Amino acid sequence: MLPTLQRKNIRNDFTENDVYVFSPRGDVFNLPQGSTPIDMAYLIHTQVGHRMVGAKINGKIVPIDYKLKTGDICEIITQKEEHPNRAWVDICKTASAKSKIRSWYKHEKRDENIAEGKQMIDKEFKRHGINLSEEEYPEFLQKLMIKKQYNSMDDFYAAVGYGGIQLWKIMPRLKEEYQKAYASDIEEIDVPQAPVKRPKASAGVVIEGADDVLVKFSKCCNPLPGDDIIGYITRGYGVSIHKRHCTNVPKDISKSEEPERWVSCYWEDEVGEAFRSTLQITATDRTGLLADVTIKLSDMHIFIHSLNSREAGNGIAVVTATIDVMGRNHLRGVISKLSDINGTIEVKRL
Ligand SMILES: [Zn+2]
Repeated sequence: MLPTLQRKNIRNDFTENDVYVFSPRGDVFNLPQGSTPIDMAYLIHTQVGHRMVGAKINGKIVPIDYKLKTGDICEIITQKEEHPNRAWVDICKTASAKSKIRSWYKHEKRDENIAEGKQMIDKEFKRHGINLSEEEYPEFLQKLMIKKQYNSMDDFYAAVGYGGIQLWKIMPRLKEEYQKAYASDIEEIDVPQAPVKRPKASAGVVIEGADDVLVKFSKCCNPLPGDDIIGYITRGYGVSIHKRHCTNVPKDISKSEEPERWVSCYWEDEVGEAFRSTLQITATDRTGLLADVTIKLSDMHIFIHSLNSREAGNGIAVVTATIDVMGRNHLRGVISKLSDINGTIEVKRL
């Protein structure tokens, strides 16, 4: 067989610092000492590397970190899908293989970032009543993009998705520009204090002894799924839901003025809508605190309605964040993640 013949010659002809490895077809590949089948795969072709799942040396399957020896016949096993393993970066030897793996991940991540960024922009535009036609949309964003010095729409989207551009920061100006450019189309939409769409007729709340009544969430205590709640039958506006411990709810209902107006209620098991919640983070004041909060929230894919920070004296800063959460457990998780931020003293729901 051809490879066998070549092997003999090569052993004698080449330096000790390189290894010479054959493909099953007999092509010879020159790799630095310590190279693995991963290096070989990327040397054959970037696509072979990305699609590699394993390797055979001289017909036998070897671990991926196998150190190639001169004369080995190395067969790369591939799959249809491209999916290099991130850990390969540390296993492979050659800089070119390392860089190809890294760049694959950067590119993949980039696609995610672009998609995420687009979605965030759409959502935020909708919320601010910015309605643009398919032709107007790119034109409008491009203007902004040039100002922000991004080369392409995708770069811009990716930056939004990644958090390099913070939408809540640029929205006011964007809205202004929109109003200037498309003044006739202005449609003022107040940012709603509670989600516009609530699940079903009873808004995820079951009211004891009543079906299909109008349910309102009181603004004084903003009940979240999972909270202990109680309903108050209003005159003409259905049932208003409060947290059981809201200051507007009598401690002892039976001794209250109109006890018959207070009704027991509880949450339906699954409430799939986002609920708005405001958190207050008290922390040691430092540069980058607000950025850290933003990054933490954006890592959790939390939608941020507003975010601000103020000095509270004595080196303490108070960050207030109004966000969307999917219920009490989610909120608990968010609070715990925020508590991990360096210098955080307390995180509480307002
Ligand atoms: Zn209340």
